[in-house]
Order: sequence, then C-alpha cells, then structure tokens
Amino acid sequence: MDIPRRRVAILGSTGSIGVQALQVAKRLDLPVVALTANRQVEQIEAQARAFSPKVVAMMDPAAAATLKTRLADTDIQVLSGMDGLLEIARRDDVDIVLTAVVGMVGLLPTLAAIEAGHDIALANKETLVAGGTLVTEAAKRKGVKLLPVDSEHSAIFQCLQGRPPEQTAERLILTASGGPFFGRTKEELAQVTVKQALNHPNWKMGAKITIDSATMMNKGLELIEARWLFDTPPENIDIVVHRESIVHSLIKYVDGSVIAQLGMPDMRIPIQYALTYPARVTSDVPTLDLAQWGKLTFFAPDDEAFPAMQLCRTAIQKGGLYPAALNGANEQAVALFLDGKISFADISRLIAGTLTLTLPACQAVEDVLAADAVGRQWVKEHC
Ligand code: MG
Repeated sequence: MDIPRRRVAILGSTGSIGVQALQVAKRLDLPVVALTANRQVEQIEAQARAFSPKVVAMMDPAAAATLKTRLADTDIQVLSGMDGLLEIARRDDVDIVLTAVVGMVGLLPTLAAIEAGHDIALANKETLVAGGTLVTEAAKRKGVKLLPVDSEHSAIFQCLQGRPPEQTAERLILTASGGPFFGRTKEELAQVTVKQALNHPNWKMGAKITIDSATMMNKGLELIEARWLFDTPPENIDIVVHRESIVHSLIKYVDGSVIAQLGMPDMRIPIQYALTYPARVTSDVPTLDLAQWGKLTFFAPDDEAFPAMQLCRTAIQKGGLYPAALNGANEQAVALFLDGKISFADISRLIAGTLTLTLPACQAVEDVLAADAVGRQWVKEHC
C-alpha cells in the first residue's frame, strides 16, 4: 500500500507530541503546511527553517511579533493568537490537522478544522473531554475521521480494525502505567513534591500530562475520551494498571475474546498510524522483544489513593457540561500545583467540587467554554 502523502498542519508543534510528529513527518516525507506554538520562538523558528511550512502561528502575540522579525528573510507567513490557529485549521491546502496543543485551547481550532472537512489526528484529549458531543456530532456531519493519537486510544482503534460490520466491542480496557506513585497510599501521597510528580517511569511527556498521570486524572480523561471516540458507555470501559506500558489497551468481544495492541512505549507509533491510516509503514521504533521483558504485570487501580479516575467516571455519567467543568478545574489545579500553590492531594479534592455544581445543558461551544471557566473559577475560589 502506498503511503498517503497527506498534507499536515501541526497545532502545538513545540510540545512533546508535536516534536515527535515532525520526526515522523520528516521520515515519511509528509508535507508540513503549518505549525503553531504557544510562545517557544526559538524552537518554532528552527522547525520552520527545517520544514518550510507556508504558515506558522503563535498563540502569544509578542512571541508572534518576534518570530515575524526572525523569519523576515523567508516566505513563511506568521500569524498570531487564536485567530491565527483558526485560520490554519481552516486552510484548504491541508488534509489532516494534528491537534497536539495542551488543554482546552484545542477545542475551537479542532471544531474549525472539522467544519473545513479536515481529518483530525487527535492528540489533545481535553478537546474531546470538554466538547465530546459537539466534536463527535460535527465529525459525523462533515464525514471527517477522528484518528486517535493517544497511545491507549490508538491501541483500541487498532484492535477494532477488521471487526465484523455493525459489531462493536463489548468492553474497552484501558491500560494505565500507574504513574510515579503506584502503590502509595492516600496518606503517603499527601505531601509529594512537584519534582517527584514530574518523574514519570515510562513516558517522557509535557508537564501537564505528566501531573495528570501522577494523579491518574489522565486515565480518567482518557476514559471520557474513549467514551466519545468509540461511542461506548462509560460503564463498559475498564481501567487496568499495567506497569510496563507494553500492552497499550485491549478490547473484549461478546464471545470472550480479548484483543490487545502491544508495542514499545514510543508515541511515534500511534502518531504515525494516525497520519498514514489505513496504511502501515515501517518505523524506526525499536522492536518489542517479549522474551526480554519476561513478564508483564497487571493490577486493579486504587481508587482510594487516586480518586481522579472515579471523578471522571462520575462526570461523564452525569453528562452534559460536567466533564468540561471538571477538566477546566483540573487545568487550573495542575497549574497551581506546578506553581507550588497547592498540594498534590488538593488537586483531586478541589476538582471534585465541580461535580456538586448545577450546570445548564450544553447547547453550543460557548456553553463548553463557560463551563470550563466555571471549573477554573471554582478551583481559584476554594484553594
Ligand atoms: Mg495516553
């Protein structure tokens, strides 16, 4: 099968996923049309010079101005702010938009890209957590694919290939590494430091997702993400702790067959699969040698020490805007924790409060943004 040479726009190209996506694009010789970043001027300038996109955008206006000066000797257009991201998302010379920005900021550009008819390689889980109804409805209406980049969802997506028509999996089983604090009690977790929380055993990731991994909020967000991506009710989605991060997730069919996707913990595999789907092409990721691993271990998650998973489950079961509020609260709480303003245990304590709020029904994207703001405000007022 030929590699489809899709023209790619990468939203969030200086983050961990963005950088690895560029490695994949380089290796597969995919045209990179557009790049965006928050404020990493030096890094995006280097990327722009290496990949010659038509356009780059910076969320931060001052950073955009600096970048514009620095790229004055090139033909690369420089855009600024959310308007810049939206313009890139809507370009008609793009085939697939990789959304790798961190947090809720990904929602509007993702919706804009879908409305423009572009397939989405989805690496920004907050988009689907907060705006699941709107995003999946828009994708269906426009006939665009939401191709998961998150390793667990890519695994489930891969396991579902070749299933009988009309048959969905009976259960989805998300694996979780357990993060740096696996095995610790609630009491032991009360005073862990930012440095300890940023020290993930298996995956090298950005700060936000690494903290989410330490609280296991990340797995809760992924449960919500899976609910939308695979149209599966949350009660049919299980979480199992798997320390080695080799089994990336599993599905169970009605006949009892369980199908898993395995591989080395390297995000370039799911990134590549989203960009080349349905083709499979060679990668330079090291081969998995099961005999060398010897054994793989699995444990039930500890909901007492890591309440965030259950909070996410409750939020998606309540439905409507609760996941958006919970997610906004989490983004705020993680920022405060990274700033040294609140303790590790405060994160789940604070975000739990959003589930007690009375929220209106979700009619439009403005409602999602408002619920996100309500969640953030709740945390600021109660920390
Ligand atoms: Mg993941």
